[in-house]
This record gives sequence, structure tokens and C-alpha cells, in this order.
Amino acid sequence: FKRLREKLNRGDSWLTYDLANLLPGGRIDETVLEELEMRLITADVGVETTEKILADLRGKVARQELGDLDALIAALRTSLLDILQPRARPLKIDADLAPFAILVVGVNGAGKTTTIGKLAHHFKAQGMKVILAAGDTFRAAAVEQLQAWGRRNDVTVIAQSTGADPAAVAFDAMQAAQARGFDVLLADTAGRLHTQSNLMDELRKVKRVMGRIDAGAPHEILLVLDASQGQNALQQARLFNAALGVTGIVLTKLDGTAKGGIVFAIASELDIPIRYIGIGEAAEDFAEFDAPAFVDAVLK
Ligand code: GDP
Repeated sequence: FKRLREKLNRGDSWLTYDLANLLPGGRIDETVLEELEMRLITADVGVETTEKILADLRGKVARQELGDLDALIAALRTSLLDILQPRARPLKIDADLAPFAILVVGVNGAGKTTTIGKLAHHFKAQGMKVILAAGDTFRAAAVEQLQAWGRRNDVTVIAQSTGADPAAVAFDAMQAAQARGFDVLLADTAGRLHTQSNLMDELRKVKRVMGRIDAGAPHEILLVLDASQGQNALQQARLFNAALGVTGIVLTKLDGTAKGGIVFAIASELDIPIRYIGIGEAAEDFAEFDAPAFVDAVLK
């Protein structure tokens, strides 16, 4: 998380830099609260979530509980942690459910295929037998990209030709996973944003077909969101959740331009666990979501 901290702040914390200069005589007043408000909103935390945090801080100021900057930062840490902690529930692969089927969804470019590669690497390192389904049959490059991750990790990939029915690929992969004793199935999907209703129909069909082979499948519907998309990511989460019932979120590209504020907006507005974060393009550039570590990275 040292790297995450560097990525999110590049030096001083975007949230708390220079606050001491805004406290004439060290007193916490409306000037400093408004500055925090602005910093939270411009970092994609969103108006609603920011107002919740500020209401909490203003209450503490009114009750004279915040005597100095350290107390303010401690209160901020508590507020931020209160938002994230309920959502920090790591994905548990239940061996009794094998093959544990994970349907990975999200718009093109969010990082689905990369995340599947990282997860394949991660689960394999834990001794699990992993199989991938190349369900983005719309784009030849997507199938090739998944096959490349499969080769790199020495993991089986089930694919059909471009244009094939993604539900058929998922069906094949589920059957292969059951017949050949795989522990985890990771199913890639398409993410065409412009024809959204077709996409949601297609994803619902994939989900249904997986359930036909194993009534409990998919055991996880993992939504991949690009954190640098800010409030758009939140909008995507609402759409995918309404259409499919998302059970876990992966936030990618926290190494990029994003300050990570969107993580708080998502945690605050959606009752969906945040499973993993992506902090780069390589297999090891990801981590289980850890609420205290994330808050520390933002505040340092
Ligand atoms: P998909 O269309 O959702 O499958 O997205 P891809 O997995 O193809 O990812 C789109 C681009 O984002 C690729 O260039 C990836 O290397 C890159 N990418 C994915 N995750 C991350 C991340 O956590 N950090 C960075 N910097 N790039 C990422």
C-alpha cells in the first residue's frame, strides 16, 4: 500500500495538505470545513457523500470536540472508515461450490480482461485450478487478450469464434469446469456501452445459462469499474446492479489520475462489497480491498 499511497497522493495527501495554514490560531472553523468540502467534491467523492462527511464534522465542531488539526484529521479518518469498512468484504471462494463461477462484467476498457488475468494468477498461486471463458465474442482482440493471459498463467481458456453466442461460451465453460474438476471459473463478457439494453439482455442470458448447469451459478457477479471515470463509474454501477444484481466490485486504475474519491461515493451509495483494487497493468498490480489501508493512503 506504500505504492497506492504514492499513486493517490504523489507527495502530500490531496485531502489534508496545507490545512494547518487554514487554521488561524489552530481553531477549526467554517473556512477549513469548506476547504475540505471542496477537496472531497473535486476528488469524485460526490456531493451527497461529501455532505454526509461534513455534517458529521460540523456536528463535532459544534460540540467542540475538535480542538486542533490532529483531532480534525482523526475525525475525518473515522468518517471515511465508517463509509468504507462495511463494504470491505473480501471474496471467499467456497470450495464446496466448485466450480465457483465468477461472471465478470463492466464497460469496455474498464479493465475486465486484465482483472480476470490478475485473478487467475492470484487464485492459481493459492493452488486452485482455474478456467477462463472468453465471453466477449464481439471483439476478436478481447478473445486474444484473454488467451494471452491464459498462456502466461498456464490456465485453460474456453473460446469460440468471434460473433459466437456468449451464452454458448459460458455454457461450454461451465460444463468443462464441472467435468474436469476446476475450482474457479472466470467468465469474461462484452462491454459495449452504446447499445446498453442489448448488452444487459445478453448478460442476463449468460447469467441464466450458467444457472442452468449449476443452480447456484454464477456465485459472484463481479463488476469492474475504472476509478478514473469518476461519477460515471457510479452511474455504471447503478445500471449493472439494476440489470444483474452485482455481488462485488473491482476498482481499477487507482494508479492513474484518480484520487480514489469515487471509492467513497460507491461505498456510501451502494450496498455492494468492494472486493479488489487494481493499481497497474501487471498481474501483481492488484490487492484485496482493505478499508483502513485505503483511508490511510488517502490521508497520508
Ligand atoms: P476490458 O475492455 O474491460 O476488458 O479492459 P482491459 O482489461 O482490456 O483494460 C483496458 C486497459 O486498461 C488496458 O490497457 C489495461 O492494461 C488497462 N488497465 C486495466 N487495469 C488497470 C489498472 O489497474 N491500472 C492501469 N494503469 N491500467 C489498467
